[in-house]
Amino acid sequence: MSKGRFGKYGGQYVNEILMHALIELEEAFEKIYPTPEFQREFMGLLRDYGGRPTPLYHAKNFSKLVGFKVYLKREDLLCGGSHKLNNALGQALLAKNMGKRRLITETAAGQHGLATAMAGNVCGLETEVFMGIKDLKRQAANVKKMRLLGAKVNPVRSGAGILKDAVSETLREWSACSRTTHYLVGSTVGPHPFPTIVATFQSVIGNEIKQQILEREGRYPDAIVACGSGGSNALGAFRPFLEDEGVRLYFVEGGGEGTGAEDSSMVFRYGSPGVLHGSLMLVMQDECGQIRASKTRAAGLNYPGRGPEISYLCEIGRVRPGYALDREVFEAVRTMCRAEGLIPALETAHAIAYVLNHREEFDPDDLVVINYSGRGDKDLEAILRYFYGS
Ligand SMILES: *Cc1c(COP(=O)(O)O)cnc(C)c1O
Repeated sequence: MSKGRFGKYGGQYVNEILMHALIELEEAFEKIYPTPEFQREFMGLLRDYGGRPTPLYHAKNFSKLVGFKVYLKREDLLCGGSHKLNNALGQALLAKNMGKRRLITETAAGQHGLATAMAGNVCGLETEVFMGIKDLKRQAANVKKMRLLGAKVNPVRSGAGILKDAVSETLREWSACSRTTHYLVGSTVGPHPFPTIVATFQSVIGNEIKQQILEREGRYPDAIVACGSGGSNALGAFRPFLEDEGVRLYFVEGGGEGTGAEDSSMVFRYGSPGVLHGSLMLVMQDECGQIRASKTRAAGLNYPGRGPEISYLCEIGRVRPGYALDREVFEAVRTMCRAEGLIPALETAHAIAYVLNHREEFDPDDLVVINYSGRGDKDLEAILRYFYGS
């Protein structure tokens, strides 16, 4: 397979102006990432700042409920409350080693913007975050946190004032200032080498799962279930198991209201190959190739494309795509709250809902790992409004 391609997916569909920055980044990653100095500093930060390794928790009550053994990989316990910091710390450290002074990024729910602001401060880099004006209003709490950390938050008014417009704006900014600035992409999307860099930094999740499950059970799991949009938490958990054919890999996307393409984020059902944000991948588009908006109550899953690697792995059948509807997701939140006393993020609850609603796909002696990507504090109001209307 050629560099930066996963089957036909991936590539570098960008303005020529950006090619220099992408080549510089690829060369720096290949040179710096494998060095013992980088590994020591990265692993040290993940441990002492991030709190890694995150536990692999045997959820006994939830297991009893579904009829097979379920472990939760507790990324909710990573500093910041989700898996996003793994990638943010890795890229910030890489940028520092490249001599960059400033990080830029975009964010929708604010989780990635916050992780970038944290990582930027740790590495002594300025941080600037682009955010659609609609998202800015919806995610006031995270905006306040980013500002408190000293990040500059730039409202994006162009287009529909949402994530896809913020990404375009950030790419524009990067092409003007890549000499001093790194674009810290938040998921396994974007032009090569970003999907590979992000998946590599997130693979710490799957490497830990492998070691932890071997210690506990003496064997690999039968299945790993992860939610996703771009695919970073899923690929982080899956990648170290790709060669182990006995491990079934499930990728759960946002089913939204489930009444059709308009009301969902089911790219594996309604999408087709197309170019979005510099990469060929599966996207929701109209007959003219214009990107169609996706819809789900989980802000972190509300992206109309699937990254090139996860698109490819589903196409060849290594990863099985699934979905969970919004109402199933809220029920899954309640089930996890009652069974284990844990409030999952709405994104994470998609993976939980899939397991709850597809019990027939698992055997009683199966070992199933749910990648528990984040905690639900950020979604508390939406959850309470759903159940109690206030
Ligand atoms: C951002 C986010 C996701 C989705 O992003 P991926 O890159 O597909 O992993 C899932 N879960 C949580 C908690 C998130 O914050």
